[in-house]
Parts: sequence; C-alpha cells; structure tokens
Amino acid sequence: MGRALTNPALGEPAAKAKGGRAAMTPECAVAEPDAPIEAILDVLRRGERFLVCSHGRPDGDAVGSMLAMGMLLIQMGKRADLVAADRVPALYRWMPGAGEIRHEGRVHGFYDAVIVLECDGLERTGLRGLERCFSINIDHHLSGRPYADVNWIDPEAASAGEMIYRLAKAAGATVTAEMATCLYTTVLTDTGGFTYSSVKASTFEMARDLAVAGADPVAIAREVLFSCPASKVLLLGAALRNLKREGRVAWLWVTHEDMVRTCATDDDCAGIVDMAVGIFGVEIAIFLRELPDGRFRLSLRSKGKVNVAAIAERLGGGGHGNAAGCTLEGPLERARDEILKELRAGAAGH
Ligand code: 5GP
Ligand code: MN
Repeated sequence: MGRALTNPALGEPAAKAKGGRAAMTPECAVAEPDAPIEAILDVLRRGERFLVCSHGRPDGDAVGSMLAMGMLLIQMGKRADLVAADRVPALYRWMPGAGEIRHEGRVHGFYDAVIVLECDGLERTGLRGLERCFSINIDHHLSGRPYADVNWIDPEAASAGEMIYRLAKAAGATVTAEMATCLYTTVLTDTGGFTYSSVKASTFEMARDLAVAGADPVAIAREVLFSCPASKVLLLGAALRNLKREGRVAWLWVTHEDMVRTCATDDDCAGIVDMAVGIFGVEIAIFLRELPDGRFRLSLRSKGKVNVAAIAERLGGGGHGNAAGCTLEGPLERARDEILKELRAGAAGH
C-alpha cells in the first residue's frame, strides 16, 4: 500500500519474411537494414488494392501513419482502404483525410495486402477477417513481433509515422503538405512533444523536413496539445485526488463513476499519466482507469532506463520502453497490487 503524497518518504529489429502465401512473398535478408523497406515496396508496386489499419483506440501515431500510408499508396497509383475498429478520436479528426478512415469491425473484399501499423499481432487491430490476407507489419514497438508475411519492426523509430516517412522517401514519393502534417503529428504525439528517449538528432531532421514540406508545427501543437475538452480537465482533477507515491513509483486512478460524473470519454484519459511521471524523483508512473465491466486499463510511463514495455508484456500488454499499457482484472486494489508487485520484481532485476 502506498503512502499519500504528503508523506515525503517516498527503474530485434526483425526483417523476417514469414513463409507465406505464395507469389507475393518476398525474400528479405535479416542482416540488411533496408531489406524490409525494399520487400514492402516490392509488394506495393506489384499490387493494386491495399487495406491499411492500425490498433483499436487509435492514437495520433495510428491515425497519422494510416493517413500518410494511404496518401503514399494513392500517389503510387494504388487503391487504399483505411479501416479502424474504433472511431478516430475528436482530437485527431482535423487531420487531412481523417474522414476517409472507415469505422468497421470486419474486413470484406479482396486485398493484395493488408498493411498493419503499430500492432504486435492481428488481434490488436480489433478487426476480423484479416487472417486470410497477405500481411505487412510495420511497427516501432519494443514489444513488436514478426507475425506477418513481411515484417519491418524498428524500435528505434520515434513513431510508426517516421517509418512511413522513410518508406515514402525510398519510394521516391513527394511528401505533400497533407502527408507532412500527418507525419509531423505522429512524431509530436508519440514522443510526448519531443521529450521521450526515442528522440534523436535525426528526429529533428525529419521534423524539419516535414515543416519544410508544409507541416505547421504551431497549428498542429494547438490542435493536439491545446484543444482539451473541459471533461478531460475535470477527469484529470478526479485522478489527481487519487495520486499516490511510493519512492520512485507514482500512481493515480479514476473509477468508472468518475468517468460518468465528468462526462469523460476514453480519449480524455490520454496524458493523465504524464502528470505523475512528471513529478521530480518519480521514474515510473501508472494510471489506472476502471472500465465499465470492472476491469482496469493501465497506462505505464517511465523516464530514464526502466523498460515498462517488458512489465506490460508480462501482464498481457505491450508498448515502448517508456510508454506501455495493459488491462488487468479489478477491483482497484487487486489491479494496483498486481502492477506494484510486478514493478518491485522488475526493480529487483534492474
Ligand atoms: P497508452 O498508455 O497511451 O494507452 O499506451 C502506451 C503505449 O503502449 C502505446 O504505444 C500503445 O500502443 C501501447 N499499448 C497500450 N496498451 C497495450 C496493450 O494492451 N497491448 C499492447 N501490445 N500494447 C499496448
Ligand atoms: Mn506509435
């Protein structure tokens, strides 16, 4: 059990082509870093119809990388259907082409390939009907897995959008202002505003290129960072009343009742955990949100070396070294004790 805050006493880039469905399966060597890009471009050039999707509850990277991927395909003279299992959050509906993303639970029709962004398995898309398609997996999560027919996993990439940017460059495509706007948003949101450890000099080089291509960093920041609905701020207030700290770990939570009372949506939960990880001396933060069915969604964040993806994976989730998530059984005390136990076990080995 943690102490209240008032008490001051308070751690393979994979390029494997899975043996798959015949003619479209390219051979790509694991050793060459450009091999997956070439393998993907080969599939894109040879096909006509593609489906682009990402994970459920899409974030800025999921939405932006899907849209940019769709734009790249159109530029290559292909047909692209963009599908998501959940609606595009209001925060990202201003993005160019966001209205093109269809909200569906099942995929119909024939595709030369389905391009899955940011997912560690087909299940994470929340879409049914993908199993029968030739698949391309483009992911930058540390918990990424080579489950598809062609896999490009680069945990060094700051966002999946960065990978789409590299793909577009390799394809010789023009990065239009619309594409640049989507791609810049992926980097801004997935790096916590250029602050996570995934940020390197090359991240700023790309950001610069995207600004030159027509992305407006100030307008995008205003849309993404300074356009909160009041419900989000009220929910944050509820969460901050439940802030606890034990040494370098801080956690906070909201109940389903808090969600209802503040009229909060799922999207309003994004960013709350950042308040806790922003505390001086805190290295790991957890935000627990009660779901209507009594389970808890956890958002994990770390600063420094603690790998929260590994912790989330042990609990059935996944993510990045500094930002990960999972879902645990309730009630609150059970979920809280389970994650704290896991963190303590991780700290022992750190
Ligand atoms: P968030 O806390 O913002 O919901 O998620 C942080 C990061 O962890 C995101 O990159 C997200 O894709 C990943 N993530 C969150 N929950 C899960 C999960 O249940 N499974 C996997 N594989 N990744 C997750
Ligand atoms: Mn991402």
